Amino acid sequence: MKQKTLLLIALLCLFIGTAQNDTRLYDIINTVSAERIEKDVTTLVNFGTRHTLSDTTSQTRGIGAARRWIKSEFEKISSDCNGCLEVFYQKDLVKKGEGARIVKDVWVVNVVAIKRGTKHPNRFIIMSGDIDSRVSDPNNFTSDSPGANDNASGMAGTIEAARVLSKYSFDSSIIFVGLSGEEQGLYGGKGLAAYAKQNNWDIVGIFNNDMIGNITGVDGVVSNRDFRIFSEPVPPTETEEERRARRFYGGEVDGISRQLARYVYKTTKTYMPEMNPMLVYRLDRFGRGGHHRPFNDAGFAGIRIMEAHENYTQQHQDIRMEDGIAYGDVLEHVNFEYAKKLTAVNAINLASIAWAPPAPKTVEIGGVVEPAAKLKWSKVDGAMGYKIYWRDTTSPTWDNYRYVGNIDSYTLNGIVIDNFFFGVAAIGKDGHESPVVFPNKVFR
Ligand SMILES: [Zn+2]
Repeated sequence: MKQKTLLLIALLCLFIGTAQNDTRLYDIINTVSAERIEKDVTTLVNFGTRHTLSDTTSQTRGIGAARRWIKSEFEKISSDCNGCLEVFYQKDLVKKGEGARIVKDVWVVNVVAIKRGTKHPNRFIIMSGDIDSRVSDPNNFTSDSPGANDNASGMAGTIEAARVLSKYSFDSSIIFVGLSGEEQGLYGGKGLAAYAKQNNWDIVGIFNNDMIGNITGVDGVVSNRDFRIFSEPVPPTETEEERRARRFYGGEVDGISRQLARYVYKTTKTYMPEMNPMLVYRLDRFGRGGHHRPFNDAGFAGIRIMEAHENYTQQHQDIRMEDGIAYGDVLEHVNFEYAKKLTAVNAINLASIAWAPPAPKTVEIGGVVEPAAKLKWSKVDGAMGYKIYWRDTTSPTWDNYRYVGNIDSYTLNGIVIDNFFFGVAAIGKDGHESPVVFPNKVFR
């Protein structure tokens, strides 16, 4: 009798354990390899320069050789999984003078690898790194420009995530992409975002990885656990009506990119609790840019994942000694164990979103001058249930939730609408959740 009870408790614990944490995500974390990332960053650095305007005909030097190598790596991964990746170039001609950093006509070429989802083939979550590099003068396309951290680290992490995730099957599609033209004015991201619109891709969001390998900050802090998640507050594409509604119903810090940032924060805290993700409430670093922005400009969710402590003497610099300081973005400064961790952060979030059902399209909220908050939402295909999240208006994270089963409305009795922010997420069969949707409609 006693033994039976113990067995029952053990089984119950096992059930609860698997219901909350998908152990495949731990396998994914453990499979990401620092050695392979080091090998790939080294290969990228050895192309001499990967400047967007650099040579494209040499087999050993310049961005042409670099992108052909990246494509061949994706193809190698694909041939190891029965052709599970669709690999292709997506390119746009950018004309001389279109920007100050386009000093001649150039094809901006991105390398795309799609792991097609079995259930939602047209629904995409994207991980990106950049192919291109630069030195002090942004238009110098001949000098040695290793770009080891900026951004061979993000590129190598993207290739490694493709290797690891190619062994699994997902409901939604995952895109691994190397973007070009970042340093010349974010042209590659602009091109792919336009391509996505033309092809009616349903994009959940993009994780733009730009510099994921430096742990020694110019601020003197050394940390191999801190990293930043940048997200803009609300989309630049919002309508005047949406802007006005926000004044009365809230949402100043609850745009789609911010929800994606919170998603990454939460998954990291759950599966890699040793890491310190920092939610930074801005589009990007102060006055600086990155390749998630063109996606934001097109109305897609997008965040930047990167190191927390940058070193400015080691980015966008001619390789030189000056006043005893060694300038340059060289291989020796990249910490591959750290790049591995941030690659794992990407991989578990890509997997979790690709295994989760889509988020509800509409979420309505009501409960004005009532002792209860009321929520209604549109049901989604494949959801086992829904979670209503809420938090104090000053909290950056969704601190409270109630699981409500497979229904499409719920009243939170005793929770006054004025004092919290609310949202709804769809929950799939292995416990994977969609990003939280902030209410986009009000009812009385
Ligand atoms: Zn850069």
